[in-house]
Amino acid sequence: MKTFTNRQLFLSHVAQTSPAPLILEIERAVGVYLYAADGKKYMDLIAGISVSNLGHSHPVVIKAVQQQVEKYMHLMVYGEFVESPQVKYAEKLTSFLPAQLNNVYFTNSGTEATEGALKLAKRVTGSTQLISFKNGYHGSTQGALSMMGDETFKRSFRPLLPDTMQLTYGNKDELSNITERTAAVIIEPVQAESGITVPAKNFMQQLREVCTKTGALLILDEAQTGLGRTGKLFAFEHYDIVPDILLLAKALGGGMPLGAFIASKEIMQTLTENPVLGHITTFGGHPVCCAAGLAAFEVLTSEKLVEQVEEKGQLFESLLQHPKIKSRSRAGLMMALEFDSFETNKKIIDRCIENGVLTDWFLFAPHCLRIAPPFIITEEEIRTACEVVLRAVDGI
Ligand code: PMP
Repeated sequence: MKTFTNRQLFLSHVAQTSPAPLILEIERAVGVYLYAADGKKYMDLIAGISVSNLGHSHPVVIKAVQQQVEKYMHLMVYGEFVESPQVKYAEKLTSFLPAQLNNVYFTNSGTEATEGALKLAKRVTGSTQLISFKNGYHGSTQGALSMMGDETFKRSFRPLLPDTMQLTYGNKDELSNITERTAAVIIEPVQAESGITVPAKNFMQQLREVCTKTGALLILDEAQTGLGRTGKLFAFEHYDIVPDILLLAKALGGGMPLGAFIASKEIMQTLTENPVLGHITTFGGHPVCCAAGLAAFEVLTSEKLVEQVEEKGQLFESLLQHPKIKSRSRAGLMMALEFDSFETNKKIIDRCIENGVLTDWFLFAPHCLRIAPPFIITEEEIRTACEVVLRAVDGI
């Protein structure tokens, strides 16, 4: 009987999302390294797109998963039973948040956090208009897609949600479009997929003011920026503002699938009635994911890893100087290097991968190279990674 390689089976039986997947077959991953089936070793400069902040296979996270699996996995749909990993993680997270963000709704993913938050905002305000920003990304399901700030990705899936509007990120004049009939404004405190766009502090503060004045709920999507990536535990801390609803995902599960929307109990309470069970999930807040997430959060906060993020980001920035790099933008350990075209960028990315450094481009900025490594990356590893990137840039 003919046997197929995993690579062939991947291409024939696993749904493909692009015509050019990376097709690396990874056998194990430890710290900042991925080990491939063909014996090659890759340094991970993208952390599974801002997920593996502690690196891969952190022993504390593995132990928490093992211990929880031995106690119980799925028991009951979300919100019915008291499951200790969920309760403990909600309590822990909220103890690090401003007082009004005291109630957590756990989801399976980032896009579900977006969906829940949008529904909550409509429910609380009784309004329907939903505002987001050009080049923003909030997930791929239809509500989140309606919020996406890029028509190329939306066109083929219309009709999407009605009564939506996309404003220009960072443009204060356009904030006057937010009115009493706006249910919510959703925004990333640093836009990731646009190639790392950091807004001015006074833009974010004015946005907060306009939302407060009009009664629109401010939803901050910290799927990528949350949990230390920008050098603060939550990116909103850079702007001295507090959202009405905070979205977390990606690193929230410590490598397991977990998202959340977090608000005040008063706001969140509106989901419990009229209709009852108006927002439910079978697996949201899965006990194993919450146990993993809690363990990762405890390591992140007790080992003061967030405190190292800015310094490591600065080292990357200072080393990655080259005339062919058109611009660099960065917030903590999320960074974009801009090249003249996608073709140039793709050649550099491919060369880096050949030389054992894994990197990627951005959804709405395909000409920009992504750097978002695990926080545990050492100074020596940063120097090695930058040498590989610069050699690849030199070679084009
Ligand atoms: N929001 C932001 C800012 C994201 O970057 C992402 C994922 N790239 C999401 C939401 C959606 O998360 P998920 O892929 O888990 O649905």
